[in-house]
Amino acid sequence: MSKKTQGKNAFYFFMLDWKKREEAGGRVFPEGLKDVQRDIKCSEEWQNLSSQEKGYYNKRAKDSKIEAQGSLTKKTALGESVEEVAAADKREQEYHQNMLQYIESIITMSIKHKNLEKLKFMVIHVNWFFTRVIGINKYDFCPAEFAVGEFSLENGIENIYHEIINSKIPLGWKRDAIEISQQTHRIPVELPQGKNDFLLMYNKLIALLKNNQTGNKLPPLFTSKGLVPAVKSLLTKMTHAAGVSSDDFLIYSLEALFGSLRNTATQSVDDCTIPLVVAENEFGKDTFLSVCNLECDFHKCIDGSSQYCSMSIIKRWGFTICDYCCEFLGVPMVEGVHFPIAQTIDYVYQEVAEQEGIDTQLQLISLSDQSKVIEWNGVTEEHRRKVSERSYAEELRRRNESKRVDVIDHSKLNAPSNNAILTGRPLRLPKTTSLAMNEIKENINYLNVTDFPPLEGEAKTPKKDVKNVKLPLGRGRCRT
Ligand SMILES: [Zn+2]
Repeated sequence: MSKKTQGKNAFYFFMLDWKKREEAGGRVFPEGLKDVQRDIKCSEEWQNLSSQEKGYYNKRAKDSKIEAQGSLTKKTALGESVEEVAAADKREQEYHQNMLQYIESIITMSIKHKNLEKLKFMVIHVNWFFTRVIGINKYDFCPAEFAVGEFSLENGIENIYHEIINSKIPLGWKRDAIEISQQTHRIPVELPQGKNDFLLMYNKLIALLKNNQTGNKLPPLFTSKGLVPAVKSLLTKMTHAAGVSSDDFLIYSLEALFGSLRNTATQSVDDCTIPLVVAENEFGKDTFLSVCNLECDFHKCIDGSSQYCSMSIIKRWGFTICDYCCEFLGVPMVEGVHFPIAQTIDYVYQEVAEQEGIDTQLQLISLSDQSKVIEWNGVTEEHRRKVSERSYAEELRRRNESKRVDVIDHSKLNAPSNNAILTGRPLRLPKTTSLAMNEIKENINYLNVTDFPPLEGEAKTPKKDVKNVKLPLGRGRCRT
């Protein structure tokens, strides 16, 4: 805020009046109010003012502040300062331009040195439990899982740092957290095996980034367009725990990197470059969505959630970029590095987990061993059976209490001798008229002469007594 908009204090207005009075007496103040401020006489007079006189100057100061506030910049409909919004937009544009320049320069440089396939980029994906608004266009993401990895066209995704996070869910947000978890990654809230030491995570992340830094600047982290606020939020938590500024981290668009790499790769084949928006669309298709066995050890044990796993997602990002670029750059495609390993129906895996904590608990688990599979709510099948199934004593008691069931085998019943068992009205004999028809005294003949007279020259209608026809009572039939 500028000095002008802060308003003036009471002494300022007193000095103005005092200066005017002294100037009227012939005094000159070459440096203006600075000279007045330095004048002891002025200070003394100010000190000796009565409370009433000081009140007058205080009122003038207050009015000037109100006036200053009234002259503040215009506000948007959301109550933001228009000036600040414009400045933020400008900063964002500059950030975007810097990002494009960085990508272009680093790719151009590596082409010059013929090592584009060796160029490494850091990619990051974050899953979260819930999002809450903490200001205008500012959000806090409660993290659930993240994965950071190095990507190069030569080696695909490697050196992955992955964590499941045990975030403390604040009061009132548990329902949101559970719903988002169930709909996406299915990581239980406040999972005891999850990590919550953000300082440790910060140190591990920095160690990984420093392997790839140039000079004293950390390499930028690339992520998908929609994940930037979530990544920012996670980094803020880490840097806050470490007591450092989060400004050292640059979060760039992975789609922009993908577009640039693809355009560079296809330069030798055709001159058809794709703009950023097309690159974003292509990248968003997630061609390798259905590939299995890319997920972390935790997600391997949770049914129907592997596609949301952060580790699986960054590996799929790597496959997508390789799929679009490697062939044109002459980089040999290796199964499992540049494209997924062919799927088999044998899902039994015996990988020994490398990480501590939750991973050690999940070691040597195979999907065929259903009893040890942890459901999304953290309960194993083994435990569920233990607490919910009937004990042997309960089963014995149920059997003793049960009543005997009489079974009648009709196939063994002899018809004449056992007719007594078949109670109820006997069936009507065949070829006899029903009780309802028996009540009609006369035969029914709808073709009466009155309604249907015989035609000239035609054969006569059958002679039947059509008088006194009585219709049975039925569903709405009526007589004319
Ligand atoms: Zn996972």
